[in-house]
Amino acid sequence: MQSKILVSACLMGHAVRYDGRAKPLLHPAIERWRAEGRLVTICPEMSAGMPVPRPPAEIADAAAGEEVLAGTARVVELTGGDVTGEFLHAAENAVALARQTGCRYALLIDGSPSCGSGFIYDGTFSGRRRPGSGVTAAALKAAGIEVFSDREIERLIERIAS
Ligand code: SF4
Repeated sequence: MQSKILVSACLMGHAVRYDGRAKPLLHPAIERWRAEGRLVTICPEMSAGMPVPRPPAEIADAAAGEEVLAGTARVVELTGGDVTGEFLHAAENAVALARQTGCRYALLIDGSPSCGSGFIYDGTFSGRRRPGSGVTAAALKAAGIEVFSDREIERLIERIAS
C-alpha cells in the first residue's frame, strides 16, 4: 500500500489560519498525491475547537514544542490567553489521525506554533525566529512520523521514491 502523508490544511488551500487565510502550496506533487488518495488533511488547531480567525499564538519564552509536550512551556496568545491545553489537544488529534490512517510522513507548514518543524517564533510576537518545532510537529516526530516542512517538499518526494 502506498504510504500516506498527513498535511496541514492551510497548505491544501483551506482558509483555517489564525488570520482567516490559507497558504496553498502549489506543486505538481500535491496534485499527484491527492489523485493517488495519499493525502490526509488536518488543521490541528481547528480540530481542537479553535475558531477562525483567532489571535496569533506563540510558544512562550523561546521554548519549543517538545517543552510544551513535557509540561515545561506554555503557548500564549498575543491577547494574553493561555492556549497550552488547546495546542496539546491539537497535537493529540494529529497523532491519532496519523495512526488511524497509516501516515508515515507529514508535510507541515513551517513557522507555526503547531505545525512548524524547521523554525518557530520566539514568543515575543516581534517576528524573531528560532530553530525548532511547534507542538504538533514535535508530537508527530515523537510518534515516529517523519515530518517535512513545506520548504522540504523536494526532500519528501525523494524520500517516498527511495
Ligand atoms: Fe495551518 Fe497548522 Fe495553523 Fe492549522 S494549525 S492553520 S494546519 S499551520
